[in-house]
Amino acid sequence: MEVVISLKQHVGAPCEPVVKVGDYVKKGQLIAKPSSLGANIHSSVYGKVTKLDDAITILADEEQPDDFVKIPDTKDNLDAIKEAGVVGAGGAGFPTDVKLFTKIEGGYLIVNAAECEPLLSHNIEFIKKEPDVIARGIDYLMDIVSASKGYIAIKAKHREAILKLNEEIKNKKNIELRFLPNIYPAGDERVIVRELLGEIIQPGELPSKYNAVIVNVETLKNCVMAIEKRRPVITKDLTVAGKVKAENKVFLDQPIGMPITHYIDEAGGYLQGNGEIVIGGPFTGKRGGENFHITKLSGGVLFAVEFPREESDFGILACECGADEQRLTEIVESMGGKVVSSIRCKRMIEVNGRFRCEKPGECPGQTESVMKLKQGGAKVIIAGT
Ligand code: SF4
Repeated sequence: MEVVISLKQHVGAPCEPVVKVGDYVKKGQLIAKPSSLGANIHSSVYGKVTKLDDAITILADEEQPDDFVKIPDTKDNLDAIKEAGVVGAGGAGFPTDVKLFTKIEGGYLIVNAAECEPLLSHNIEFIKKEPDVIARGIDYLMDIVSASKGYIAIKAKHREAILKLNEEIKNKKNIELRFLPNIYPAGDERVIVRELLGEIIQPGELPSKYNAVIVNVETLKNCVMAIEKRRPVITKDLTVAGKVKAENKVFLDQPIGMPITHYIDEAGGYLQGNGEIVIGGPFTGKRGGENFHITKLSGGVLFAVEFPREESDFGILACECGADEQRLTEIVESMGGKVVSSIRCKRMIEVNGRFRCEKPGECPGQTESVMKLKQGGAKVIIAGT
């Protein structure tokens, strides 16, 4: 089997390969380095490099031992996280060592366990399986950023995960569970800070301004793997859902670079009437395809229903926390429609050249926007949330 490991699995420029075609590589071996902001990339398999372009293609050996090349010795835990190539696994892709470089003396280290896009469940499944990793990870990261309090932000509906976490943290006075509302987008960093700390982060501001650093569950897991096992980021946790026989299945620790087709097979194959493949959650995911390969940022692999035909004039209402104009246009065109009118949610304001939501999750009525879209000729309207 070939694995295809993208050179861009983080914010910033693509990494530079440090291997060449014909090289034999081991699982865990460093294969690409960032030239500026970014994160190291390591091979997820034993095999031979067969192609270099915007990705490194490796023909994987039949036998794949569990052993891997450990990251080199580092001066401290923060450096281990950098060396391991940890990035925000919730989809943001920001290098975690850069985020954790911030000191928040006496502040809050918050684990984002919201997993709030519908269908996705791999973070909660991991918590249920290894809640001890979460507890230890909070200790490590609190120490790195000098936080005095650790919070786990989770929705109350995840009862089994909550019971297991409570058992793990019962003797840790400085770690608490905090509950998020069961809404989308509860996992947005600004919603978490608002709900847990009562502070309103303005668009463009970072949680660190309010003495908080937030990391996703899988990002925390990868930090623990780097610190305790010296393991680089070579796997990804996934939820596979939708029009496949298994309907909803979690796959933990999948080698980065695996082809999507592998998961179609693992989920029992397509159900009739399947449509596009979405990588990520239903709200913020992007169109993938059978030629897509797993990256450090792929959380959901969703198989949608076929697009209904609607050869009409559409108005689109974009949302910062859901589908943007580009994604909505893609959906309209897939239905055979034409975008004749476009508007952003009135809570979106421009900050540093980018439109940001002023109050994620406190969504306004959209009557005014709908009227404008109709005046613009729209006969059918779709919205980003
Ligand atoms: S307020 Fe508007 S932009 Fe913000 S999450 Fe709600 S719909 Fe989206």
